[in-house]
Amino acid sequence: MKNEPVNTRFVPVYRDAGFDLQDAEKAAAAFRSELDPLHHPDDFIYSRYRNPTVVAAEEQLAEVEGSEWALLTESGMAAIDTVLSVFQWAGEDRPWLFFSEIYGGTNAFIDEVLIKRRGLDIRRFVTGGDRHDMTAFKRMLEEVHPDVVYFEAISNPMLIVADGKEIIRLAKEAGSVVIVDNTFATPWLWKPLKDGADVVIHSVTKYLAGHGNLTAGVVCGNDPDFMKDLIQYRKLTGHMLSPDDAARLGDYLRTFSLRIQQHCYNAGKVARELSRRPEVENVLYPGLETHPTHDEAVKLFGKRGFGGMVTFDMAGKNDEEKRLRRDRFIEAVSGHIPLVPTLGDTGTILLPIEPVWGDKYPAPGMIRLSVGIEPAGDLIRILRRGLEM
Ligand code: PLP
Repeated sequence: MKNEPVNTRFVPVYRDAGFDLQDAEKAAAAFRSELDPLHHPDDFIYSRYRNPTVVAAEEQLAEVEGSEWALLTESGMAAIDTVLSVFQWAGEDRPWLFFSEIYGGTNAFIDEVLIKRRGLDIRRFVTGGDRHDMTAFKRMLEEVHPDVVYFEAISNPMLIVADGKEIIRLAKEAGSVVIVDNTFATPWLWKPLKDGADVVIHSVTKYLAGHGNLTAGVVCGNDPDFMKDLIQYRKLTGHMLSPDDAARLGDYLRTFSLRIQQHCYNAGKVARELSRRPEVENVLYPGLETHPTHDEAVKLFGKRGFGGMVTFDMAGKNDEEKRLRRDRFIEAVSGHIPLVPTLGDTGTILLPIEPVWGDKYPAPGMIRLSVGIEPAGDLIRILRRGLEM
């Protein structure tokens, strides 16, 4: 049985490094259509350019995001590099504006690559509190006239929810391209393209893949010319996802909407339980009315939920006592809730804030929980036991 179609319901894992182009004429046609948004099955050339298994997962992602297209990369950081690099043109020197409350890796990429190596004029909109001040943002747009505005829907680890629709509206009015990192909110809670964003990126490693064992990123958008630029940049820099990982992602995406609903449900339960505990001083969860950006969250997410992340601070008379309570808790729950520096997995995991963020958030008792999809009752029992230690 040599390479005949079989009655499968799944897209095969095409591991070809290069594809069989058969003759000179077909080869010429394939190379001519290399960057075309719609890819003909005979036109695959080389897997670093495009691969049918990867395209199949991209089509699933475009459906989830409600976008015209989605392009996969081998990590979330590769998606960030890809999207930011295609907006960079020699001789263009308008500044770019980044919100300061974004993923630490992105902030380091800005400092180490965009500023130090590429010499870009980068400005930061510093939140300066526990919510984004829209009046200050508007003023900054007028002052800076940025070419690009970049923000995250839900920040990390303080879970500040952006007034996403308003940020996009103001930035578009100012003539900026708007990029949203929507990793924490996921397309379940918000689809920024529908509100006028130009591009959305995700660390697929998190909720979209969702099982803690796949590293990937995605860039989603609607503009076909922009898609061509991205395909070209990804091809030239090799930021491509492997077909094996794309096939696994395709399987994981089948359960995304179920998983994210359970993440949100469990996180709500956990946040309310933690708020009632005497061992806990403060709980940050956008679904709680006490959260500084609860109103923004309701405005942006409606009734769909408030995400799967909960950050909380241990009570204690002083820093030492808080640190001690934090460490005892981490040890007590470690059999069920390991300390793992990622998020969005099916199982609940935690991260202490101080050892990871250092001076940025000097909170010795603070822990970030990425709430999983276990039965909520089991999870609450484990947390209670941890707090009672
Ligand atoms: N964006 C956000 C919000 C993240 O949290 C992360 C990683 O933690 C990234 C981007 C980078 O993604 P990756 O680790 O898949 O490269």
